Amino acid sequence: MKRLYVIFFLFSFLSSCFAQSLNIIPEPVAATATNGKFILQDGSNIFITSNNAELKRIVGMLQTSIHERTGINLKLRRGTPGYGIIIDLNKKSSIKPDGYELTINKNEVRLTGKNCNGIFYGIQTLKEILSKDDKVFFPGCRVADYPRYPYRGFMLDASRHFQSVHFIKRVLDVMALLKLNTFHWHLVDDEGWRIESKKYPKLNLVGSYLDSLNARERNGYYKANEIREVIQYAKKLYIKIIPEIEMPGHSRAVMESYPELLCPTDSGGKTYCAGNESDYKFIKIELAEVINIFKPEIIHVGGDERPKGVWEKCPECKAMVSKLGLANEDMLQNYFMKDICNYISSKGVKTLAWAENIKDGVPKNQIVEGWHPGESWEAARNGYYTVNADNIYVYFDYPYNSEEKKNRPDWMPVLNLEKVYSFNPTPDSLKESEKKFVIGSECALWTELVLENDVQHRIFPRILAFSEVVWSPEKNKNYENFLTRVNAIRPYLNSKGFEYENGEW
Ligand SMILES: [Zn+2]
Repeated sequence: MKRLYVIFFLFSFLSSCFAQSLNIIPEPVAATATNGKFILQDGSNIFITSNNAELKRIVGMLQTSIHERTGINLKLRRGTPGYGIIIDLNKKSSIKPDGYELTINKNEVRLTGKNCNGIFYGIQTLKEILSKDDKVFFPGCRVADYPRYPYRGFMLDASRHFQSVHFIKRVLDVMALLKLNTFHWHLVDDEGWRIESKKYPKLNLVGSYLDSLNARERNGYYKANEIREVIQYAKKLYIKIIPEIEMPGHSRAVMESYPELLCPTDSGGKTYCAGNESDYKFIKIELAEVINIFKPEIIHVGGDERPKGVWEKCPECKAMVSKLGLANEDMLQNYFMKDICNYISSKGVKTLAWAENIKDGVPKNQIVEGWHPGESWEAARNGYYTVNADNIYVYFDYPYNSEEKKNRPDWMPVLNLEKVYSFNPTPDSLKESEKKFVIGSECALWTELVLENDVQHRIFPRILAFSEVVWSPEKNKNYENFLTRVNAIRPYLNSKGFEYENGEW
């Protein structure tokens, strides 16, 4: 018996020596490359263990992907699994809800998940490890995997520069491949209102066309049917969309369209008047329209960087402070945001906002997005669920290196690939009881200086590092190993039409 163990040990050792290396991003919770490979050929079978329509759909996506890349047609079968790819939807398994297990040897590929989300993520792993020498194959491995955080986001600013629906879909494709699940769509800012509005047509006639040069990427808006198309597309990739409607600041596009919403003392300004009941009414009618188009689970209501000195000068805002018995204009913002958020909540939609006024309390059920260092920790300590988007780790408009920094505003720090990779949204300094409030993170691309075609260079390869921040266990992270995988996945991302930034990351 002892001899058998020795032989088994030697065999395992040799297997691991000759095993193919796996190049999976984000790095799974546990993954071991094993010897052997499963060779794919025309007519190879995919067995599904359930007639679940959604399971069939996502397995169909795998068939399509393999066919597009290799020309190989796989046959979908229901029934007793034999030699082939087995997709096992097993609701009774002990796998975590969005997790999956994958075992590959020369006879079978077995992917098991407790729900379709898990199977979907397992399929993304299969897409990444699909390999080719003289044959097309999946390398032998054992993988057990599940996400670190439920909120794994990417924010794209469509206000400063506008991106096409076609481009957004390609971004969503890559988010899905990297197991990101939340697309925060920044659709309203000073430079443009980007959502079709039937209630307030000047938001489009004026607010969507503010750029006098009439550059295509700086003007326009998404039609309601285009937005619905994007939402449906995202849903099929297990991505939810959070539209952001900025207020009370960052609203020049609204104010150019309807200047009567400004404080009477703020001609040409960019901030709602919190002393004017018409402003509250306007926002609520428009939000109802946005909710009708998006049917979102969450709306982001902005809330950051209200210019100081505007409300302080306005007689209507001052009268409102006095009428409500508030201490100052900061507390007026607190009142304003609570009123709007309560309205959104009354429609069954949750709210998310940039962290401001935490010390004064935020509306019940609001998720706090921290973008300055420490804001999310403060939110967690105060018992608010929070998304930690600390700008110094996740703002992808920041330069990659000191050379690039020369062409950027002084206040922008360098954000290289290793710095993104080092980010830990839930630091050890938080107590165990506080850590549960950090629900995840998102990387963000502000586009003041970024045209559609440059988005790829801002996000790649940094978004790869970010995917490990939100998916992989902190203890698994290894930057050198990550760099190897960044290079390995590059041809696949190139084939999806994306290029990495040139030069030093
Ligand atoms: Zn005012």
